[in-house]
Amino acid sequence: MLQITQVRAFSDNYIWLLHAPNDPRQVVAVDPGDAVPVQRTLTERGLKLAGILLTHHHADHVGGVVDLLREGAVPTFGPANEAVPGEPVRLRQGDVAPFAALGLSFEVLDVPGHTAGHIAYVGHDAVFCGDTLFSAGCGRLFEGTAEQMAASLAKLAALPEQTQVYCAHEYTVANLKFSLAVEPDNAAAAAYLQRCQELRARDEATVPSNIRQERNVNPFLRCHRESVIQAAERRAGRRLNPTEVFAAIRQWKDGFKG
Ligand SMILES: [Zn+2]
Repeated sequence: MLQITQVRAFSDNYIWLLHAPNDPRQVVAVDPGDAVPVQRTLTERGLKLAGILLTHHHADHVGGVVDLLREGAVPTFGPANEAVPGEPVRLRQGDVAPFAALGLSFEVLDVPGHTAGHIAYVGHDAVFCGDTLFSAGCGRLFEGTAEQMAASLAKLAALPEQTQVYCAHEYTVANLKFSLAVEPDNAAAAAYLQRCQELRARDEATVPSNIRQERNVNPFLRCHRESVIQAAERRAGRRLNPTEVFAAIRQWKDGFKG
């Protein structure tokens, strides 16, 4: 299992620092949207930036790249089809982001939906999924279609169940309130909400989650379940095909005030 340091940025972003198995003082930053808290953490803990992984082009994920690279060039990887800073090596489905000297390596999945070229990095029993999969939720559809997002989430849901899910925002409590609006009888979601509220009361992170947990509590990974299909069809007032079920749940969440 990787050693990972969490860096908080903006109001609810997480930037993940992955420690190199071969030298734990060297770290790879995932989606450094702000250089300042990353640099502060590096200094405080005596760490050295050794690489950067980018999932998509939004500023809260890439805004710190130029400042970090000004301190010294490091291997940088990003999506093949999005404009991101830092002149990264451009990756798509099936490619690998290798940091050979560090003992780190990640496979790339194309996960369009939140943005058109969003990618995720899988390796070392973890997935870094940016704004595609959140704990108990998923990203908004800014550029992609419901069909694309549903396929991207199905790809992530098919990862081994122990895979740790490192998403980029602390949205879990609000997401779980929505999970329970969709599936009021989901006991796993109710128990997880209570646990997450306790963590947040202590200002602790609810992330990472894991794939097993998400299959149990995340309505966007449960669109094939009868309870979720029925909730979506009740709102729509008609029968829905699988993509329409996903789209109806996503649209419901967009307007959900808790
Ligand atoms: Zn985003």
